[in-house]
This record gives sequence, structure tokens and C-alpha cells, in this order.
Amino acid sequence: KAPLLEVKNLETAFGIDGKDYNAVDQVTFHVEPGKVIGVVGESGCGKSVMSLSIMGLLPKGIGKVNAGEIKFNGRNLENLNDNEMNKIRGKDIAMIFQEPMTSLNPVFTIGYQLEEVLHNHFKISKKEARQKVVQLLTAVGISRPEKIVHEYPHQLSGGMRQRVMIAMAIACQPQLLIADEPTTALDVTVQAQILELLKDIQRKNDMSIILITHDLGVVSESCDEVIVMYAGRIVEKTDVRRLFQEPKHPYTELLMGSIPRMDVDTDQLATIDGMVPSLKNMPQVGCRFANRCPKAMQECTEVTPQLKENEYGHEVACLLYESSRPAREVSQ
Ligand code: SF4
Ligand code: MG
Repeated sequence: KAPLLEVKNLETAFGIDGKDYNAVDQVTFHVEPGKVIGVVGESGCGKSVMSLSIMGLLPKGIGKVNAGEIKFNGRNLENLNDNEMNKIRGKDIAMIFQEPMTSLNPVFTIGYQLEEVLHNHFKISKKEARQKVVQLLTAVGISRPEKIVHEYPHQLSGGMRQRVMIAMAIACQPQLLIADEPTTALDVTVQAQILELLKDIQRKNDMSIILITHDLGVVSESCDEVIVMYAGRIVEKTDVRRLFQEPKHPYTELLMGSIPRMDVDTDQLATIDGMVPSLKNMPQVGCRFANRCPKAMQECTEVTPQLKENEYGHEVACLLYESSRPAREVSQ
């Protein structure tokens, strides 16, 4: 299958004090039709900036795509004007966010807001729109859609609001859904239900999903492939089974250690020491993870690791795996 989305050497920069800093740096990946791609990393790793770049929703005058290509169905998105992008957004590529309250309008009913989405992209009568809205709400597992259409966002629980957001996102049957931390604000049980719903809709509509999360646990349940990002770059990329069986990048290994487990007290969760470097403090050479990496070597601050692919299509950017270097145990 030809890729639905192709991102090549994407660089997205933010201007700070008149200087450009890449929040997304040399990011390359593609999404095939009907696949779910997980994008994982702590906050500040460029995941959301990457998705806003794809959607053409970077804050104007602050962030911009400086280099690279974003191709959707073979069409270059970064050259499109606002008008052309508006036609694609919502219809062919839809997005849902962590906090539905910020995307739903508090002063309009759920029914009105869903109808708006339909009217924006299709020529349909008010009656048809109403019927379609009820169908959509049913499809996202809302049991009394006729009642919900008359309610306002604040009258719904967080989980219900996220279901409404999903209904809105799938209203036009997009080929690609970008879900940015869609379950982060929800409690664990609701989180699982929403992920299940997304998977279900993905299968029924043969849609592709880019699922952005800081939680590798979410990825293990829902994704075909995983991209691990650190400080704006991809550090590891492979299929989900391989990633969990054989994580290679030290950052991925540490993320694995911080997956919440049902049988462990959450207060004792392992977290990764230190912080993602800010844009202004990004090391210019060497590995961006070096100051937090338990396996760091002298050369890690001198040589920039490149993303290299092994014979299984497993890609990793870490000097421990660069073929010119002998594999070795590193004292911690
Ligand atoms: Fe750690 Fe060095 Fe690999 Fe970076 S390149 S992840 S610092 S071992
Ligand atoms: Mg984010």
C-alpha cells in the first residue's frame, strides 16, 4: 500500500528572541492506510508540535515548518494556503486533543456543534444532519443520544466529552485521525474504554491513527508501530511487538520502566531523572539525551547519533548501536 502520510526530514522551528530553534528536528516517518502509529515521549519532546505541523495549525508568527516535506495522499501539505488546508482539516485529517473542554464551545449544545461540523463539509438538510448526529453519538457509545444533543459540554463527564470529540472527529470519515493525548485527562477505566472505542472505529472505518502519548502502556494496547521521540528527534522506531520485546534506545528502556502497573503503588513509579532540555538549551552536537542517559559514554557529547535501521526494520539513534563501534557493555 502507498503511504497515506509521508513526513520527510521535517524541521519545525520556533522563534525565540529573534533566533530559530527546531522543536522538531529531521523527523521522517510514514503512515500506511489502516495503521495505528504511536508517538511516545515526555512532554517537550516535540510530539504535539509535529502534529500541529501536519495539521497546519502552528501558532502564526511563532512556529513554522522550516524544512522537509509533509505529503498526504501524495499531495504536499506544507505548500497549501489556509483555504486549501481548511478543506482537508476535519474532512480528510481530523484531530482530537487531551482536554475536550478547550475544543468544545461551552455556549452551544452538543447537537448544534456536531451539526456545524457536518454543514461545514457537506451539503445536507437540517433534518439529515440531526439524524447523522444521532448516528454518530451512537457510534461512539453514547446511549441516549437524543438527550445528549440538547446538553452543553459542562453537563457531560470527561469521558462523555471525549466521546463527543471523537464523534466530531469522525463525522466526515477522515482517512487520518491525529489523537494527541486523548486519554491523559481521564481516569484509568474510562481511558481503557476510550482506547477501545478508538480501535473499534479505526477497524470499522479502516482509518489510520497517529496516537500521541507520554504513556508507553497506551501504545502497547493500541498501536501497530511506535515512534519514540526525544528532544525533537526520533530516537527509536519499530513495530510495537519488537519495541516491547527488544527496546534498544536507553530512553525507551527508561520509559518502559515508568509504565504504570496495576500491581504497583503509583507513588513508587519509576520516573526518569532530569528533564528534557529546553529549546534554547538544546546541545548542538552529540546525543540530546546524554545528560540523562545511564549508558552515556565520553563520545556521546561529541558525536551526534544518527537514526540507523537494522535488518528487522528496527531503527535506533544511539551510539551504542552504530555499526562502526563494537557492541560493548557500558559500566553505569
Ligand atoms: Fe545514551 Fe550515548 Fe546512546 Fe545517547 S548515544 S542514548 S547518551 S548511549
Ligand atoms: Mg503535547
